[in-house]
Amino acid sequence: MDFSEIKNIDKNFVLQTYGRTDLCMVKGDDIWVEDIKGTRYLDFFPGWAVSGVGHCNRHVVRRLKEQAEKILHVPNIYYNELQPILAKKIIEHSFSGKVFFANSGAEANEAAIKLSRKWGGKERYEIITMEKSFHGRTMATLSATGQEKVKKGFDPVLEGFRHVPYGDIRALEAAVSSRTCAVMLEPVQGEGGVNIPDRGYLEAVRKITEEKGILLIFDEVQTCMGRCGEMFAYKVFGVKPDLMTLAKSLGGGLPIGALVASEEYSEVLEAGSHASTFGGSPIVCAAALGVFEAIEQDGLLENVHKMGAYLLERLEHLSNETRGIRKIKALGLMVGVEMDMPDAVFLVEECRKEGLLINCTQKNILRLMPPITVRPEHIDIAYDKLKKVLERI
Ligand SMILES: *Cc1c(COP(=O)(O)O)cnc(C)c1O
Repeated sequence: MDFSEIKNIDKNFVLQTYGRTDLCMVKGDDIWVEDIKGTRYLDFFPGWAVSGVGHCNRHVVRRLKEQAEKILHVPNIYYNELQPILAKKIIEHSFSGKVFFANSGAEANEAAIKLSRKWGGKERYEIITMEKSFHGRTMATLSATGQEKVKKGFDPVLEGFRHVPYGDIRALEAAVSSRTCAVMLEPVQGEGGVNIPDRGYLEAVRKITEEKGILLIFDEVQTCMGRCGEMFAYKVFGVKPDLMTLAKSLGGGLPIGALVASEEYSEVLEAGSHASTFGGSPIVCAAALGVFEAIEQDGLLENVHKMGAYLLERLEHLSNETRGIRKIKALGLMVGVEMDMPDAVFLVEECRKEGLLINCTQKNILRLMPPITVRPEHIDIAYDKLKKVLERI
């Protein structure tokens, strides 16, 4: 089928909820993707970090093939061979506690919200989240999200969420009341513009939540699996949450979400109180185990440190050589390039024309999140392409 035919069928039969780029991807190989016309692109934004260990990572594909020959789905009334193993793996890399499996970031956050409310009881139901945050598109998670554009048209949103400015510890302190059960935030804001907290902020948030006896939830849906230089971003800051949510990179391309509850809160959701039909199915767990295997066996955390430093150095060089870059924000391979113009969205299309895929968020922050398998030669190619584009503006 040719591309125009595919687009036509999409237009007629798929709800048009996405503003799609004029590309149909058919193949992926690590940092490269190929479209239906055979054009290859260097992917510095692989599915909002879903393909964080690269497209069709060999560890992921090998485990998927093996599992696909055995069984795909096992309902959660039975045990399956892989779900406990994956939970153990996540816990070994984070903090002692237990895991609930879902299918997406929003669903992982739903589980965190439900756990917090159940723990808080009738009187303590309020969750404080941050302005410019992003927690998902379901009714509860869009209510939690601190961005009006996500809520527009869906009033009344779920009650019990308050937003305070990210980074403002006084505002957070003032917002906590006897109704508060939890504070939820991203250790680095992704959709909000790659906002890296100032030193001491997360420690201060931890201190407040401890003093007030309320839960601290880290939404690590975008920052997990090595993106920021550690398996989970909270480790970079040395601040341990009570609940942590994961998705995106965790499945290596397959849909998965997870709520990690520390030991103290691991009994709040008891049998029958929460569920997900697809959650933790063996085929998806196989993929996630492949992601851990890739990170461990291929030394990818070390690679994030090296390539994060190299990418930052190249971007700083670029900012001296061309016009338009105001500021570079980077933690590991989570990178935002703040542009010196009110609207930089057109640069995404300009980069695409050069064969480089990136993203733009909050209108003027170019977002680069290459697979954590990225090599210096890929960064050099991206540099050349970005330079070409910026020299034109
Ligand atoms: C993408 C994202 C979500 C939502 O994940 P979905 O899988 O799209 O539901 C939630 N939180 C953060 C921080 C995200 O980046």
